[in-house]
Amino acid sequence: MSRRIQSDLIICRDCDTIYEYKHTKVRQPVHCTVCGHHLYEKKTRFIHRGFSFALTALILFIPANLFSLINLDKVGNNRNAVVFDGVIDFFRYGKVACGISLFLFCMIFPLIHSFTQAYVCFGLLYKVKLPGMVKALKIHQKVAYWTMIDVYILAFFVVLIKLGDIAHVKLMTGIFFVFAYLIASLAANYACDNVMLWRRLREFTYDE
Ligand SMILES: [Zn+2]
Repeated sequence: MSRRIQSDLIICRDCDTIYEYKHTKVRQPVHCTVCGHHLYEKKTRFIHRGFSFALTALILFIPANLFSLINLDKVGNNRNAVVFDGVIDFFRYGKVACGISLFLFCMIFPLIHSFTQAYVCFGLLYKVKLPGMVKALKIHQKVAYWTMIDVYILAFFVVLIKLGDIAHVKLMTGIFFVFAYLIASLAANYACDNVMLWRRLREFTYDE
């Protein structure tokens, strides 16, 4: 995704070529002519959809973290585990960096990412000038690179396969909420093009 640098200027993230924003048809992606990187794409009702999916992701985030992901039964020792148990276990076994990474990349940053999108889109959708909308959108773009819940799910299933040899593992409700959260947050990302969001926010905040 490209960055918006001034009112109508777009900079390519890959090669830093600067372009002037041009109105295009809906669903007509604009690419960098130098490196082919995707610059922006006009989408229909992107604020409405962006808000709906981001809000859905936020709501799903709660059960995804509250409900157990798995039930582990190892030689009579039965245990349910939620996402945060992974953080605690890392700390317990002295893997502080792993614990902090899991906490930030799979819990805090995804939460901030969904929240800031819902916040900005809500303000734009209902034409409410909420405090710090510009800052919220900047944070949203920054944390986008650090949300790694998809990596967590992949690692989670690798661990499950390995655990299968030494313990009886049963998937619990929480894992389905994690999947649902992931799908909603991917849909929220797809619904909203950041360049279009920046344009709409600029028009909205300057439209006094
Ligand atoms: Zn480029």
